[in-house]
Amino acid sequence: MSDTLTTGKCLCGAVSFTLTGDPVNMAQCHCKDCQRASGTGHMSIAFFKEEQFELKGETSEFGVTADSGNVNTRAFCPTCGSRVFSYNSARAGIVGVPVGSCDDNSWFTPKAVVYCKDREAWDNTRTDIPNFDGMPG
Ligand SMILES: [Zn+2]
Ligand SMILES: [Zn+2]
Repeated sequence: MSDTLTTGKCLCGAVSFTLTGDPVNMAQCHCKDCQRASGTGHMSIAFFKEEQFELKGETSEFGVTADSGNVNTRAFCPTCGSRVFSYNSARAGIVGVPVGSCDDNSWFTPKAVVYCKDREAWDNTRTDIPNFDGMPG
């Protein structure tokens, strides 16, 4: 678990991180919060245990109560606004990393697509993996 998977950083470089080992889960999310936070149709997110994620730099955070009642907090660079990680009150000790911020994201292989009820016709994600209307239990 100590092998570096990849490094990553925000657009301006003030916030950076190192990921070690393999992600515990990978998904693409079409929920309206991800659409709004990303400014586009979905987010591609890999999930890691906190100890696999080493952060450098200061982040700002914004928490949103999801339709599940859980609070999803998105952390971003206060200078350039890039999202660098998120965490959810329902999954203690797990961080979600938007894979576009990773220097190498060729390893990303989503296991599911969630909140497909909000998927727009112009934003294609995979249908050959499990697709869920919302967040699977
Ligand atoms: Zn930045
Ligand atoms: Zn989402």
